[in-house]
Amino acid sequence: MAMLPVIACWLIAMISGLCWAKPYTILFTAATILTAVWTHPYALHQWSGWVQLAVLGGTPWLLAAQRAHDGRALRRLHADEAIESTRLSEAARSERSLQASAQAMEAQIAEITDLYHVTKETGRALHVADLFAASLNIAPRLLNASGLRLIDLSGKTPHVFRASRTTDGRMAPVNGHNSVAMEQAIIKRVGVSGKPASATAQQLACVFPEHVTRVSWVPLWREQQAVGVLVADELPEDKLKTLSIVANQLSLQLSRVYLYQQVEALAVTDALTEVSVRGHFMERAAKELTRAARHHLSCVLFMVDLDHFKQKNDTFGHLVGDVVLKDVARVLQQHLRDIDMIARYGGEEFVLMLVETSVDQAMVIADRLRELVEAHPVHAYDELLTQTISIGVAGFPAHAETLETLIERADQALYAAKRAGRNRVVCWTENANTI
Ligand code: GH3
Ligand code: MG
Ligand code: MG
Repeated sequence: MAMLPVIACWLIAMISGLCWAKPYTILFTAATILTAVWTHPYALHQWSGWVQLAVLGGTPWLLAAQRAHDGRALRRLHADEAIESTRLSEAARSERSLQASAQAMEAQIAEITDLYHVTKETGRALHVADLFAASLNIAPRLLNASGLRLIDLSGKTPHVFRASRTTDGRMAPVNGHNSVAMEQAIIKRVGVSGKPASATAQQLACVFPEHVTRVSWVPLWREQQAVGVLVADELPEDKLKTLSIVANQLSLQLSRVYLYQQVEALAVTDALTEVSVRGHFMERAAKELTRAARHHLSCVLFMVDLDHFKQKNDTFGHLVGDVVLKDVARVLQQHLRDIDMIARYGGEEFVLMLVETSVDQAMVIADRLRELVEAHPVHAYDELLTQTISIGVAGFPAHAETLETLIERADQALYAAKRAGRNRVVCWTENANTI
């Protein structure tokens, strides 16, 4: 029974070594030793008593030391764990950013590939319409817009090519080429500031077409002049840069198309008189006759020849003769409709085709042309001259069914006019050869 307080103190010291702070362990260990010495003083007379005392005092300390050691090991473990988890989360973060940059790179590669295709596809186009059609194949994927417009500013009035997105995601061309209020407002803005921009109907102060709330546009440049505008409906804000890249490509291609058109025009235009060359006329006239035959329309062919032109050359020289020839061609061309055709047929001979015109109407027109030329004063170097023309007329289908016959008969009528005294109009008849 005398051991009970000693054991109680020792147990509390053990618990303190196991769970509590050091001062408690010191306190209860001291209490255990004092209690043991106090209750069993005689035990200190034997060495086993000292051993017991050492065990009683040492065990709580051993426990406390073990606890401190375990605590330190645990803290070290936690620290290592924290370092490891930081390392892991850093690795995860860098993997995520690698994935993101790989995705961005893939998107960039796709965009560059699409841009390359825009260049490739549009590189084959020879006319503005082809250029727009070619860009429609690629641009939808690239631009993610609900509609596209290419405004051609190279002519007298803007010519607009439009396309809108269909339900299957493609861009389908839309009919009609005249500019609407929104496009006119954009052209005006381009005139003021040639920069790429986006705007709403309110900002442009005009009514937008249905389903369009916002447009973005980039001007197309050629020799520091805006020759066109690429417009995208409902373009996401971050795609304006891509629109600019596409527009730059189109600018380059547009320059090439205009150059091609110039070369093409040069190839079919007579250098002196600036009207078509004979070959080009024959091609177009043949097509027109086919169309007229299909739709039961009539058309008329004029052969025009300058009267006594050799005399003019002989008297005033060829340079003056050239000016006269050029002037006559201009007068004739100026008084024709856009749909009619004129070409230089030979030296001082012109051929004209009046589309959807009857012979009776043509006779009036021919006589008016003759009068206009006769009344036109020609200023050639120091000379002030006048010139008359003779015209032979033949109509389709009234006088001939083929282009060759039509020309032949108009030519016969022309020579009849010459024989009849010149400066006149003669329509082909069965006996034109004998007039
Ligand atoms: P006619 O009233 O019968 O047609 O008489 P003409 O003198 O006009 O006819 P002719 O066929 O005898 O002469 C045509 C002249 O046109 C001869 C040629 O020197 C001239 N000529 C042809 N082409 C050109 C050209 O490009 N420039 C100049 N200055 N003269 C040309
Ligand atoms: Mg002549
Ligand atoms: Mg002649």
